[in-house]
Amino acid sequence: MSTSSTNIPALLDVTDVSKSFGTVQVLRSVSLRVARGEVVTVIGPSGSGKTTLLRCVNFLESYDSGSIRIDGKEVGFRETGARQRRGERDLAAMRAETGMVFQSFNLFPHLTAAGNIMLGLTKVRGKSRAEARTIADHWLGRVGLAHKADSLPAELSGGQQQRVGIARAVAMGPKILLLDEITSALDPELVGEVLEVVRSLAEDGMTMVMVTHEMAFARDASSRIIFMADGGVSAAGPPSEILAADTDNERLRTFLARFR
Ligand code: ADP
Repeated sequence: MSTSSTNIPALLDVTDVSKSFGTVQVLRSVSLRVARGEVVTVIGPSGSGKTTLLRCVNFLESYDSGSIRIDGKEVGFRETGARQRRGERDLAAMRAETGMVFQSFNLFPHLTAAGNIMLGLTKVRGKSRAEARTIADHWLGRVGLAHKADSLPAELSGGQQQRVGIARAVAMGPKILLLDEITSALDPELVGEVLEVVRSLAEDGMTMVMVTHEMAFARDASSRIIFMADGGVSAAGPPSEILAADTDNERLRTFLARFR
């Protein structure tokens, strides 16, 4: 079944999105469709616009033209004042539709692992503390950290902190999980445990868009890979096609050569 067929409603539908920072155009008519349950990996050289694309999908950044729909609803915003019209609480609720995990773990240092997960559940989702704790415990168990629920981030390894970051994002019940180079700040020996969590979420059917430089992981965990260059989508297709050493796309070939 082709998941990029226009007949199948996409869970995430990015159409012709362009964006400039001042005079620098960082996204050039980017289109991307992600079906429910798909794992799409975005690769490309530094500065090609990968993070900006994820930030537009997650409301952290506005865009100049095009549209971004999640589950058929226009949820992105252009620089038209939409952001001002929406309250911060509203924005937080919409951001939770697309859970985002960052390279730097971004956990609140004064809150425990469970406390970090509970915060959004109580403040944004309106759960009671007891309900939020039950959900936090569930997801901590799911990422193998049930025994660390009451630990502060400083008492956890980088890999454990990032697993809490993932648990915090999925606990909010997002439709899509956005992962932005989530293993880049980790010591090499801690990368595997984080990717293992991502893999198990993918197996459970979580829809994901991830930016990563872990090519081996991209190859076996992705349904599709998008190669970005200079703010545009330069190539898109199944991993076997995009990561082939003999691709005709010269920029892609040059990019991939760095990982060999
Ligand atoms: P990537 O994630 O592929 O490394 P980014 O999306 O981070 O690329 O950046 C794309 C381009 O946009 C880069 O040239 C970067 O310098 C520029 N850029 C990103 N954020 C900003 C910003 N807030 N202001 C100005 N330029 C930015």
